[in-house]
Amino acid sequence: MPGEVRPQEITIERREGVMRVVWLTGHTSLYALGWLRAHCPCASCREERRSAGLAELSLSTELVDAELVGNYAIRFTWGDGHGAGIFPFAALRACCPCPTCNPDGLPPLWVE
Ligand SMILES: [Zn+2]
Ligand SMILES: [Zn+2]
Repeated sequence: MPGEVRPQEITIERREGVMRVVWLTGHTSLYALGWLRAHCPCASCREERRSAGLAELSLSTELVDAELVGNYAIRFTWGDGHGAGIFPFAALRACCPCPTCNPDGLPPLWVE
C-alpha cells in the first residue's frame, strides 16, 4: 500500500481534551477534540458549516467513543450522539499541529 499512514498507538486524553496519535514512524501528533469535532467530514456537518459558519462553536465536543475503521481511518461518536464522521489517518497525519510538520499553520483538513 503506497503512502500508507498508520498509527501504532491512539490515546484519548479526555481530561486534557486531546487525542494523541503515535504514528508508525514514531512521530506523535496531538489533536484537540474540539478541533476534530469542528472538522467532522460527514455530509451533514459539511453542509452545516457551509450554511451556518461559526455554528460549530456550539457543537458537543465530548467524545464518547472512538473506533477504528479498517486500518485506514478512525470514527468518533460525540456527546450529542453524532457519529457519522470518518477521519482517514492520511488526512490527520497531514494536519499534525506540531510546528515541525506544519510550521506555517495547519492546512485545511478537508476541502469543503
Ligand atoms: Zn458530522
Ligand atoms: Zn508533527
